[in-house]
Amino acid sequence: MEERIDLNTGWQKVLLRLEEKVSKPTIKTWFSNVNPIQIFNGILQLEVPNKLVKNWLENKFHIILLKTAKEIFKELKSIEYVVNNTQIKKTRISKYVLKQKITIFEVQPSTNLNPKYTFENFVVGSNNELAFAAAQGVVNNLGDKFNPLFIWGGVGLGKTHLLQAIGNEIVKKYNNTKKVRYATTEQFTNELINTLKNQNIDEFRQKFREVDVLILDDVHFLSGKTKSQEELFHTFNELYNNRKQIVFSSDRPPKMIPDIEERLQSRFEGGLVIDITPPDFETRLAILRLKNQERGYYLSDDILEIIAEKITKNIRELEGALNYVAFKIKSLNEKNPEKVSNLIKEYLRQNTKNISPKKIIKIVADFYNLKEDDLVKKIRRKEISRPRQVLMYVLREVGKLSYNTIGELLNKRDHTTVLYSCEKIEKEMKQDFDLYQEIELIKNRILND
Ligand code: ADP
Ligand code: MG
Repeated sequence: MEERIDLNTGWQKVLLRLEEKVSKPTIKTWFSNVNPIQIFNGILQLEVPNKLVKNWLENKFHIILLKTAKEIFKELKSIEYVVNNTQIKKTRISKYVLKQKITIFEVQPSTNLNPKYTFENFVVGSNNELAFAAAQGVVNNLGDKFNPLFIWGGVGLGKTHLLQAIGNEIVKKYNNTKKVRYATTEQFTNELINTLKNQNIDEFRQKFREVDVLILDDVHFLSGKTKSQEELFHTFNELYNNRKQIVFSSDRPPKMIPDIEERLQSRFEGGLVIDITPPDFETRLAILRLKNQERGYYLSDDILEIIAEKITKNIRELEGALNYVAFKIKSLNEKNPEKVSNLIKEYLRQNTKNISPKKIIKIVADFYNLKEDDLVKKIRRKEISRPRQVLMYVLREVGKLSYNTIGELLNKRDHTTVLYSCEKIEKEMKQDFDLYQEIELIKNRILND
């Protein structure tokens, strides 16, 4: 006699068997919101949360899923994937909310500043109050008391935010009459290299020397770069002698930067050197409350408290965890605060993993059904250019690679092409919820693989 089995129990068995063939995280990523509706005329109908999951299942899992399901449901002929309508509505709503809430900030070409970083949205705590006071001091006494201002501290503690806020505040306070130029040291170095190649050093010097305020981020990057150090030394002297304001940041104090000329080191130390340390609980919670509001997530305070408790060392990570939790809560419709702890654990586990660029390329290629080679090579085809931009973005965001390295990986593309692509995707993600979700799925796939 044939064993009879009810739909839900059967489906659980299918998933268990599937887990033996593909990995558990993969199952979790793709099947967590998939439910069996019925078997009718030998067709198993599955409810899926959105079109993307539907496409993914149809293209990537169909054969193995059907085979496995046939082992459990003997009379099965095929599987159909049905997008869940209530989920669609939810997606539309959140798309609307995202569109409503997220303002798009563009980097200003004349200053290279991003207006999203301001003093107003910088939360002051005991960890950064001195740096904040010095930053305000700079704005009120340009080129005078605190010159240069050198701010140092670990990654994700708000150095870039504070530096850019100084620039933005100066532009505002002095009604655009002060010439401000912000650059990362990576940009400074890359532009110098290009300049030397193209022999337009005058243009370069005009850009960095004919300003009232020069803000140079992450100067530890100068380590071992002789040409850039030399150029910066002369840039510094010219600005300083003309009483122009200079602001630096670094991930360590001047003395600890290896392979750097002593004369430059002593310039770094010649003004005010101040550090930013990791924020305490109160400050972390205040930051989360601000970002929660800014981004329209509307997460409750108890959820924010859990995040603030678990993530202590890095504000970028704090924001990342907030985004992750908000996204999960929306997409999984998960409101239970106890689950939030697990989500954060999941986020941290993924974040500390070392992810090879090779793996990222493979997963993105798979995702878009493209050959890895086509994605990497310099083929100009419309259907490839977008996935390629997504790839660059993901290599930067998840792989944490520099623009140069990404350029190298992608068939020696120029770093500016990479920079442009990453910025384009980042901007579009904020307007296009489908793209946002697509990239979240790719990230999940990479992190759970
Ligand atoms: P760093 O340059 O030190 O690596 P960032 O300035 O890039 O760090 O900060 C990482 C993220 O954390 C940014 O999104 C920034 O806006 C945010 N952030 C850091 N410090 C604060 C703060 N005190 N208040 C609000 N947001 C902050
Ligand atoms: Mg920074």
